[in-house]
Amino acid sequence: MAKDYYDILGVSKDASDDEIKSAYRKLAKKYHPDLNKDNPDATAKFKEVSEAYEVLGDSTKRSNYDRFGNADGNPFGNGSQGFGGGFGGFQDADFSFGDIFSNIFGGGFGGGGRRSEPVGSDIRMRMNLTFEEAVFGVKKTITVARTTLCNDCNGTGAKNGTEYTTCSACNGRGKIRYQQDTFLGTVVNESVCSNCKGTGKQIKEKCSCCSGKGYVKANTSIEVNVPAGVDNGQILTVPNKGNEAKGGCGNLRIDLSVASHPMLRREENDLYIEVFVPYIDCILGTTINVPLVKGVYKLTIPALTQSGTLFRLKGKGIKKVNGSSYGDILVTVKSEVPKSLDKHTKEMLTKLKEESNISSYPKTKDYESKISKLKTDD
Ligand SMILES: [Zn+2]
Ligand SMILES: [Zn+2]
Repeated sequence: MAKDYYDILGVSKDASDDEIKSAYRKLAKKYHPDLNKDNPDATAKFKEVSEAYEVLGDSTKRSNYDRFGNADGNPFGNGSQGFGGGFGGFQDADFSFGDIFSNIFGGGFGGGGRRSEPVGSDIRMRMNLTFEEAVFGVKKTITVARTTLCNDCNGTGAKNGTEYTTCSACNGRGKIRYQQDTFLGTVVNESVCSNCKGTGKQIKEKCSCCSGKGYVKANTSIEVNVPAGVDNGQILTVPNKGNEAKGGCGNLRIDLSVASHPMLRREENDLYIEVFVPYIDCILGTTINVPLVKGVYKLTIPALTQSGTLFRLKGKGIKKVNGSSYGDILVTVKSEVPKSLDKHTKEMLTKLKEESNISSYPKTKDYESKISKLKTDD
């Protein structure tokens, strides 16, 4: 048993529900972070007390705890593991406690002082690229409908950015106090003033440029550097070119749609192609033209090249994005048998067949010898 919750609440093991509740109330008040701003240990203590009450205040969890030493009734678990669910929020910097605590103490935890301005949202758009543009990279100027802070009022929404009065709802405090009756007694809470959204200020006269919104939406030209090597389906992020808000700009996220090459099939940074060559050229050897990302490569096919032979053109593929290495071009050579045959050719081939020797065809020979062993008597 990792922690003795009875010990933490200072009650005996046979304490009644009311005794547990009352002990918790006293300790929760004593260690409440809002009442102990100068005592850093209080928060940890408060957490411990709350953790203990979360278990002992619940009859099912309490009986599991009594039997197994943890709240979820798992005989193999340890005490702290049983807590995952209810207290997931504890590690958060903002102190987002479980529902029960936010109901009791409202939003007043941690002094309520840390309110950061929101960052603008991302803008998502699509860009079509040719195969070459994707392979070699390209600079493109695109037009984006983008929200930016209004220049006239500096994003305040007030005329000239200065025409303010103090918020009448909160008298400039930015927060509203209210009382709440809970089982701990009356608790005074503070929440962010909805009238001024916590700024404490109220706009006297609205900025005419943005009608008091503080931001404007306009078409903006943005130059995008597409690096060499990008591929279809990749997303290019242009930092800080999304919508602007007071906390900063979101990002511009561009979905790339890359056209395919008419002959080469791309797989990551490698390119594949299948080239058919007349069977006679496979036998006698030849030179073929292979498309490169730019231009054509003359590939020598040696004599007696088997159909399906793979030739690798090292480093002739696509450059890796933000890297220095290149992929390859992989050429599969296949022999093509004629679709038609004239009389003369047929005669020559028949003669050729009569003169050919099976020992020149090792695969055929091997197959024949294997199949002959399978032959039955009939
Ligand atoms: Zn404005
Ligand atoms: Zn206010």
